[in-house]
Amino acid sequence: MKIKLLGSSVPDPAARQYVSSYLINGTVAIDVGCLGFYGTPQEQEGIRHVFLTHSHTDHTASLPIFVENAWTPNENCARVYGSSETLNAVQEHIFNNVMWPDFIALSKNMPPFLHLSPLQSEVPVQVNGLQITPVPVNHVVPTFGYVVNDGENTVIFGGDSGPTERLWEIAHRTPNLRAVFLEACFPNSLTGLANASLHLTTEMFGREVSKIPTAAKVIAVHIKVRYREEVIRELRALGLPNLEIGECEKDYDF
Ligand SMILES: [Zn+2]
Ligand SMILES: [Zn+2]
Repeated sequence: MKIKLLGSSVPDPAARQYVSSYLINGTVAIDVGCLGFYGTPQEQEGIRHVFLTHSHTDHTASLPIFVENAWTPNENCARVYGSSETLNAVQEHIFNNVMWPDFIALSKNMPPFLHLSPLQSEVPVQVNGLQITPVPVNHVVPTFGYVVNDGENTVIFGGDSGPTERLWEIAHRTPNLRAVFLEACFPNSLTGLANASLHLTTEMFGREVSKIPTAAKVIAVHIKVRYREEVIRELRALGLPNLEIGECEKDYDF
């Protein structure tokens, strides 16, 4: 399974993940923070399945741009998956004829721009040779983490979340878990903010890692850019043998 965290800054995209988008095997995306700014329209057109973790702007910002870039005047359009709460938020707050034209309504009368597919907790869907299972995590709006299996290996995308349990229970009964992309938003000096926003500090990150099977690599992502050096210093001090600091634009292969 090939995974890329899409870069969202120039220059030096690897070190600054302002927003979140992951591309799997070049054809399936998780979150759309910057997907609409990625590559050529033809490359975006090749991405027909987009899974949203939640409604927050750093995960959905470029959705209207992506839909526009990926659109071709035929029946084959992008399909956007998420919880019913997330999809309702997309309709109400993005495609609302104020922030952007209502592409969802337009899709009923002309070659469609996008289809919405609500997901049920822990009910897997199959797309492009991947089994993708949404698992609720612990954030200030309804949020899914995703367990992605390609028939051989499994990778977990933790989404935005404070301390959580169910996702890690599932991780323990998942064969061939190779990697977990886990948020490490804040340094310990911002514990109050982490608690209020249901994100992790580096200390909380360490506690979450102790719940994850040790064979899996844990890749720290969603580090608040302004605090990146402090967060990385604190993460390294945890001495976790399976820790990697996530880098945008790098090709991960599991
Ligand atoms: Zn969030
Ligand atoms: Zn976020």
